[in-house]
Amino acid sequence: MIDYLKKLNEPELYQDLVEYAINNKVPIIKEDGLWLLKKIIRLVNAKNILEIGSAIGYSALHMASIDGDIQIDTIERDSKMIEQAIENFNKYDLNHQINLIKGDALELDLDTLRSQYDLIFIDAAKAQYQKFFLKYTTLLKKGGIVVTDNIIYHQLVNGHHNNISKNTQSLVKKIDAYNHWLQSLDDYSTTFLSIGDGLAISERIK
Ligand code: SAH
Ligand code: MG
Repeated sequence: MIDYLKKLNEPELYQDLVEYAINNKVPIIKEDGLWLLKKIIRLVNAKNILEIGSAIGYSALHMASIDGDIQIDTIERDSKMIEQAIENFNKYDLNHQINLIKGDALELDLDTLRSQYDLIFIDAAKAQYQKFFLKYTTLLKKGGIVVTDNIIYHQLVNGHHNNISKNTQSLVKKIDAYNHWLQSLDDYSTTFLSIGDGLAISERIK
């Protein structure tokens, strides 16, 4: 099915990054998840975007490529990833639209960021999702959107837990707790989807 949809959807961009990600086990967003993320950005006309977890810059490049007046701040702590991301932003000549912020998103001073984002994409350490959400949604405008990736984590969340390590089990529990916490928020309306590795689309309603 995905191959059929692939042909109908947009041409594949940044295939060299996809190849690099596969060869180096970099967990970039799944293709259908990306289609939805980009469609949301278009539909809500998001111009100021914050991403937590740049990796090699694949999703940031895709988001920036939608429109020349989109600005992206993207946070990454891993120095090897930072190097690759910068190289890729230069290679595709989108560095004027993408601002890479180096450091741990949990320690970063919020003053270094813009104050009103239209959309926040949470795609960093999965055990910390709630902390990222609480910290960075202080910078989300009313009516803004938070997209969280990997909320079903390889189908393991709410799935069968045989043959998975203690660490993975604990991670799965944390993602599950995050999903239920998101669901309980009064000021957000969230839809949980099994697209890609699972996406939660939360809209700030208060
Ligand atoms: N959004 C990317 C994939 C990100 S993978 C894409 O789809 O193309 C997750 C990245 O988050 C990793 O590179 C990891 O180093 C980074 N990360 C994890 N925890 C972080 C933190 N606390 N602060 C900053 N970056 C973090
Ligand atoms: Mg992800």
